[in-house]
Amino acid sequence: MPKKIALLPGDGIGPEIMAEAVKVLEAVGKEFSREFTFQSLPIGGTAIDEFGDPLPPQTLQGLKESDAVLLAAVGGPKWDQNPGNLRPEAGLLRMRKELGVFANLRPVKAYEPLLHASTLKEEVLAEVDLLIVRELTGGIYFGDKSRKPHVSGEQATDTLVYTTEEIERIVRMAFVIARNRKKLLHSVDKANVLESSRLWRETVNQVAKDYPDVQCEHILVDNCAMQLIRNPRQFDVLVTENMFGDILSDEAAMLTGSIGMLPSASLGAQVGLYEPIHGSAPDIAGKGIANPLGIILSAAMMLRHSFGWEQEAAIIEQSVQEVLAKGARTADLAGPQDTKVSTSEMGDLIVQAIGCRIPS
Ligand code: NAD
Repeated sequence: MPKKIALLPGDGIGPEIMAEAVKVLEAVGKEFSREFTFQSLPIGGTAIDEFGDPLPPQTLQGLKESDAVLLAAVGGPKWDQNPGNLRPEAGLLRMRKELGVFANLRPVKAYEPLLHASTLKEEVLAEVDLLIVRELTGGIYFGDKSRKPHVSGEQATDTLVYTTEEIERIVRMAFVIARNRKKLLHSVDKANVLESSRLWRETVNQVAKDYPDVQCEHILVDNCAMQLIRNPRQFDVLVTENMFGDILSDEAAMLTGSIGMLPSASLGAQVGLYEPIHGSAPDIAGKGIANPLGIILSAAMMLRHSFGWEQEAAIIEQSVQEVLAKGARTADLAGPQDTKVSTSEMGDLIVQAIGCRIPS
């Protein structure tokens, strides 16, 4: 049976990078005799324009009927002034909740040929290989929000809610992942100030009893933000709540040289959702210069986590390493001396490295 993949190209650079991910998946399919069917569905700003809804019912239906979902990115200045429920990001949050993908895995790997592209020192970055496990369907992004009049103008409230159950399931997943890596887990919270973080920490300590072989450390989010830049090699797996994970993983992206390099997997009970961590990059949309490697590496994660195809995933990851080692650079990665390749040229190079003919 062909694997049914729902594609969500979204906005900005989304359609440009999605085309490269599909090219790469087709190449892998050819090489390993795997079949895919692709269904492209509207989401985000383009869906608001066409259907007045950032997550139209037919999109949600299509996602639920698929074997896995590959998303590029949503958002852009055109929709920035829309009311909350008519913003592209509202569709994204609703989709994560509807698919029940509570665990977001964000690997952060420093690629040796790109070390110079980071603003940080090469000796700090060498051999960084860590994984951020971010809670994705709870916390302040999903709590009640309100605005009311105030003597100074207005008062705005966002609510940060976590239950023991929500914390336990993500923490358990992180322990299992840590057990299969270096057996080191850092739990990130703000337990010195936030009640939700105190519940988080207590729950982590309870769950830790079931994983005595994993060394578990607690670290406050502000210290963690500093340590990620000071000495990132001290970390292997980090687990944290939604907003802290959002911010820390963007910070950690700089350890790889460009935000355009980072993939992610969002897992739950059923369909997995795979997406690069960057946004729709409206500043470079339509120029053909976006880096497609984040979404291509997300497609590799999809093959591994949704289909259990380790070899197929690894060949994509090795091809990315190889192409970078040979000097190919999109604009975001290029130094002054480098020749720049376009989005589609980078996709073609990965396809070539996989060992297939480039589909016409
Ligand atoms: P962004 O990640 O889109 O861009 C930040 C910077 O990184 C920009 O300079 C951009 O050009 C660059 N960049 C990002 N991806 C790149 C790539 N693949 N190749 C080369 N350069 C890349 O973040 P932003 O500017 O804060 O947000 C832009 C829009 O994207 C907003 O509407 C925001 O809400 C949305 N957004 C969406 C998602 C998502 O869909 N998951 C995530 C973050 C932001």
